Amino acid sequence: MMGTLLFSLRILLQISIPLIADIHFDYRLAIAAASAGADGLRINPGNIGSVRKIQEIVACAKSFQIPIRIGVNAGSLEKDIIKKYNGVNAQAMVESAVRHIEMLRSMDFHELKVSIKASDVHRTLEAYRLLSQETDLPLHVGVTEAGSLYSGIVKSSLGIGMLLYEGIGDTLRVSLTRDPVEEIRTGYEILKALNIRRRGPEIISCPTCGRCNINLFDIVEQVEKALLSSTLDIKIAIMGCVVNGPGEAREADVGVAGGDGVGVLFRHGKVVKRFPQEKLVTVLLDEISRIPSQEQAEGSTPKTT
Ligand code: SF4
Repeated sequence: MMGTLLFSLRILLQISIPLIADIHFDYRLAIAAASAGADGLRINPGNIGSVRKIQEIVACAKSFQIPIRIGVNAGSLEKDIIKKYNGVNAQAMVESAVRHIEMLRSMDFHELKVSIKASDVHRTLEAYRLLSQETDLPLHVGVTEAGSLYSGIVKSSLGIGMLLYEGIGDTLRVSLTRDPVEEIRTGYEILKALNIRRRGPEIISCPTCGRCNINLFDIVEQVEKALLSSTLDIKIAIMGCVVNGPGEAREADVGVAGGDGVGVLFRHGKVVKRFPQEKLVTVLLDEISRIPSQEQAEGSTPKTT
């Protein structure tokens, strides 16, 4: 337990965001993490072992005044529920969640949040839709074990995106077999695409066609990389040709397009500068750095918070 305590402390000393301890099986780890200063606990009551152990976690969360997320997972439902439903389905997952909500409420604990994840998008959607009819508690949404980068992003975007679009979900987790940095990035992209939260510029780029005679893939990647930690709230266009690029991306605050050796810089669809094509990236980044902060704050896209 000392290891968990020290590990939690080491993390807490290096971050300024809430730390949630996600604990399976050993209730003492939850207590150690809470004692070290974790801001919340996630448990799957079904695998903690006994009501007494759950009571101990609840008593600890109460004393530290931290919330608990009940994290139901399709892969670890209680045996009696699986038997009742003849397997794992959305109804079974909801019954497990409701059972645990009632259990913690019977212990007079109400600082709750719930997740009910499956690795299957259909089942995840159905489970969350059903659960949202059963409870007003905050829901943490996600598609668990979504897979590798491509399939994981697609599954998470569909699952999380559809739920959020329907108004279901208060926090989210993208689960990828990748560096967690990609999970955070994907989560922000989902929020950005739904206009729920903006963080950083939105890059619009064309799919390229026969008119494109520059390496647009590479240019977009360079710009994306350079602006990875940017918090500017603007729309940026990177287009493959000067014939259609500025017009097609007229809603962008700023953009560049390639041509026959000559690149153009445009603002809101109007060309403001021509320059040697090989300078597309540097000219664009330079222009972005000059955008007044007022314009950055206003952006061109409506925000929903
Ligand atoms: S902007 Fe130009 S290169 Fe890009 S898709 Fe449109 S026509 Fe093709």
